[in-house]
This record gives sequence, C-alpha cells and structure tokens, in this order.
Amino acid sequence: MSQQTALSFTITAKDAASHARSGIIRTRRGEFETPCFMPVGTQGTVKTFTPKELEELGARVILANAYHLYVRPGLDVIRSSGGLHKFMGWRHSILTDSGGYQIFSLASLRKVSDEGVSFNAHFDGKEIFLTPERVIEIQELMGSDIAMVLDECPPHTATEKEIERSLKRTHLWAERSKAAHKDKTQILFGIVQGGIYPRLRKESLERIVYLDFDGYALGGLSVGEPKEVMCELIQDIAPQMPCDKPRYFMGLGSPLELLEAVSYGIDIFDCVNPTRSGRNGTAFTHRGKVVVRNGAYANDPKPLDPDCSCYACSNFSRAYIRHLFNSSEILGPRLVSYHNVHFFIGLMKNARGSIIKGKFLDFKKDFEHNYDEKHR
Ligand SMILES: [Zn+2]
Repeated sequence: MSQQTALSFTITAKDAASHARSGIIRTRRGEFETPCFMPVGTQGTVKTFTPKELEELGARVILANAYHLYVRPGLDVIRSSGGLHKFMGWRHSILTDSGGYQIFSLASLRKVSDEGVSFNAHFDGKEIFLTPERVIEIQELMGSDIAMVLDECPPHTATEKEIERSLKRTHLWAERSKAAHKDKTQILFGIVQGGIYPRLRKESLERIVYLDFDGYALGGLSVGEPKEVMCELIQDIAPQMPCDKPRYFMGLGSPLELLEAVSYGIDIFDCVNPTRSGRNGTAFTHRGKVVVRNGAYANDPKPLDPDCSCYACSNFSRAYIRHLFNSSEILGPRLVSYHNVHFFIGLMKNARGSIIKGKFLDFKKDFEHNYDEKHR
C-alpha cells in the first residue's frame, strides 16, 4: 500500500509555539528544504529565467503544468527530447500540476462526467479528452519527480451542494489516479478540495488520506474567496493533515499569507505572483510592494528593495529599472522578476532558518511589522 520508496521526507525542526516545521524532501532528482517556494514554469519555462539563474537563486524544485505541455508542444516532442528535464534544461526536481485548475478555468466547452473531462484546448480549440488515468500516464511519460492527481475545481462561488457533488468525483478520480500510478520512483500527491466549507474540507481530507498518497495538497483556495475565510480554513485544516507527509498549498502568493500558512504547518508553495508582477513592474520588498513605474521613482537612486542583496538590487536603481520599463526594454521585466523570485525563495529560507532556531513567531512578527500591504 505504501509508496515510501519514492519519497523521503525528514522533519528537521518543529516550532514549539506554532505548527511550523522545517524539513527536507528527497526526490529521485535530489533534495530540497522546506518550507519552500516553487517558481512556476507553466509552459516549461519560468518566464524570463534561464535554469542557471534559477539555480543561482537556490531553486531546487520548480512547477510545470502537465495540461499546458500536453496541449503544446505535446507528449511526442517532450519524449523525443528525452523527457521534460532535458527538454527545458533543468536538472533538479520538477513538480507537475495535473492541470485540473486550468482545464476548469481556461478551456472552453467542457463536458465533465465521472469518466473524465472533454474540452477544447484554450489556444487552438482542438478537442481533447482526459481521464484521471491518462493524466497520471502523461506525467509519468514527461518524467516529472512529483505528480499531482486530476481533480475537479469548482469556482469559489459554488454552493455547498455543488461542492458536495463535485467532491464525489474528485475522490473517485483520486482513487483511480492512485491505482493507475505505476512509476513508484515518482512521488504522487493527493489533492484535498471542499471549497470554503470546513465540514467538506475535513471529509475530503479523510477520504484522500485514506488513499495513502506521498503528500497532500490543498486545492481550490486562494481563488477569489475572502482572505479571512481562507485563513480560517487553513488554520482549521492544515494541522489535521498527516504530520509525516509534505503539505502543499497550491497557488498561494502573498508574502503575509505564506508566513501565515507556514505557521499552520504548510511546507510547499507555488504562485505566479512573483513572475507575473515582475513583468508588470511590481516588486515585492521587505516594506511592501513597489510599483517601479510610478513617477515617484523617476529619480530614485535606491535599489528595488534596500534590504535585498540580489543581483538586481546590488547593481541597479529604481530610476534605471523604471527607465527600462518606460522604454519597453526587456531587461526591466527580467530584473524585477529576478528580484521577486529571490524575495520569495529568500522569505521561505529565512522562515526555515527561524524555525530551526526556535524563533519563527518572532521572525513572522518582525516581517509583518515592516511589510505594508499598501506600500507603493
Ligand atoms: Zn533584490
């Protein structure tokens, strides 16, 4: 029943005053420490980064999206290139998201049944039919180190009844995914759904844990529901997730929310926020967000974040980066993205260090004290 051969997860420290923990996850490609932030490479590239730059920033695991890569360039291209790692030139761990969220949010003309989901690809309209078994097979063939099951992702506006119905299918699909998963050197995570309803989240957690996955993810949160509702839910559900397995919060992307989730015992995060905001000229800093295109920075010699030691902050001023954006120079989005990914990876690294030193809540409080959500 157990797949312990695929995954090794060691908890290196536990915070006495919260649920926060630090750990090491070993995949067949190597290890990475938790809590950790995974840069997002939906299309097999973390936008604007070379793999070498990601390595320099300390990234040892990134996320790619099986759905996107399956519709373009397709499995044949990836397989004849020797698998996803070789195709994209990345030698460390890759987690592939199944693409459930994308299928249910991007693709059009969906027909969903218990058997699977048929839809038209979001960019060329080609009709595709995917079953939970096929989604596992696709991730095995791509060769990612951590795979995710296919789940149904209802909108955050769904009623309790609708979520209840959807959960039945998500649980059925999880069971079939587990049965279909053949490559035991690949880690497989189950996904807990249940919308904003604590009762349904708990039920989902029990059903998914019963299937005995290598790790557990929280899906379908941070999709538009009020922030307080989400925080209450993580506070309630995260500590109930199995202690000895990695816990992954899918798609959470504000620095304050990440630290909050770490305090409830979450280990892994991903979000497009650092790269997407970076391309728009918004930097995450220790004082809050800086929209570098604002006129206020026209003559500002300070770096994006005076408390940051990254390459972008060590060498360039806000005035220069603003000039790059105003001149539509590609280096602008590159530098802000670089700083942002450094910031998120660094935030998790510092959280980890503080957990090991037994000072996580002090670190969290200091960070919150300095970080102004409204800073511009
Ligand atoms: Zn920086």
